[in-house]
Amino acid sequence: MSQYFTKSLAALEPYTPGEQPRDQQYIKLNTNESPFAASPRVVAAITGQEVEKLRLYSDPACRDLIAAIAARNRIRPEQVMVGNGSDEVLAFALRAFCDGDTPLAYSDITYGCYKVWCSLMGIPSKVIPLQEDYTVDIGQYKSLGATIMLTNPNAPTGLALTPGQVEEVLKANPDHVVIVDEAYVDFGAESCLPLIDKYPNLLVVQTFSKSRNLAGARLGFAMGDPELIADLNRIKFSFNPYNVNRLTSLAGIAAMEDEEYFASCTGKIRENRAWTAQKLREMDFTLTDSLTNFLFAQSSRIEGGALAKALRQKGILVRHFEGERVSNRLRITIGSRPEMEALIEALKQLGA
Ligand SMILES: *Cc1c(COP(=O)(O)O)cnc(C)c1O
Repeated sequence: MSQYFTKSLAALEPYTPGEQPRDQQYIKLNTNESPFAASPRVVAAITGQEVEKLRLYSDPACRDLIAAIAARNRIRPEQVMVGNGSDEVLAFALRAFCDGDTPLAYSDITYGCYKVWCSLMGIPSKVIPLQEDYTVDIGQYKSLGATIMLTNPNAPTGLALTPGQVEEVLKANPDHVVIVDEAYVDFGAESCLPLIDKYPNLLVVQTFSKSRNLAGARLGFAMGDPELIADLNRIKFSFNPYNVNRLTSLAGIAAMEDEEYFASCTGKIRENRAWTAQKLREMDFTLTDSLTNFLFAQSSRIEGGALAKALRQKGILVRHFEGERVSNRLRITIGSRPEMEALIEALKQLGA
């Protein structure tokens, strides 16, 4: 930290992303990316002519992209806002709906960025512990006096709430926004999107990074009541009006329109998840019933951190988190079938 860095952020501890090696010598099961290429329609959309048009700013209102997202989800464009990854959308939502007097409530075991954004923006955190089996106790989300973040399905646990459970939270907190982070919803959980017409305090956030194979394009979106969307745009136009670049916008439209490829990729991930989970269970691993593109797995023989290191030496990257109830586990992204076969083989060789 230089002598110039603001003292007000002296305690800030940034998020540590999973390793992104510069060469392809590793099987990457550590950052929940898709093992499959972006849709062929995305590849076709990024032409030389479009690259030349980078001399022009992107559409600050993102009209074409928002129209594509709205059409696919059968909602109105006024109910959609887009951002540079769902990370940006979520950060804008915190800026819009939290402050020093309005904390953010979220689980003790969940996506690490929420805590970092709170400390960056001076927002108090109201941390609510998951139960022993990593499930959410909905009873703890009543009249919290806080903006609420429900990660559904949750990461790294892989477990989901039903829309009925989310609805209970919405009803019990009518004076606060409930943000549902659905980064993994397309792999088998039920979306809360149908509730946005009924609950003006619901904001559903999704991403193109995982189920639409576009992590590197940086594109996420929020869906909710037009007034909440206008609030998010108020923040966006006070920070970075051209937050989605031209090429990403084209990629997003093409990916949203390629329903068949989306269904095929997410279907294969579910198949590979079932296959891998069964193999791991046969090897006495403990697993949660993940509805995501990753497994949250514990070896009965080798401690989590040691196993992650040993796998790395065998050319396989997985994610390991420190912390009392997670450090014995690994978060393993579901890759292609050959990748998952290589993982199982490596685990057998290691005696895990
Ligand atoms: C991956 C992830 C995000 C961020 O996704 P981007 O759209 O790539 O910024 C947000 N929330 C959760 C829970 C995630 O796992």
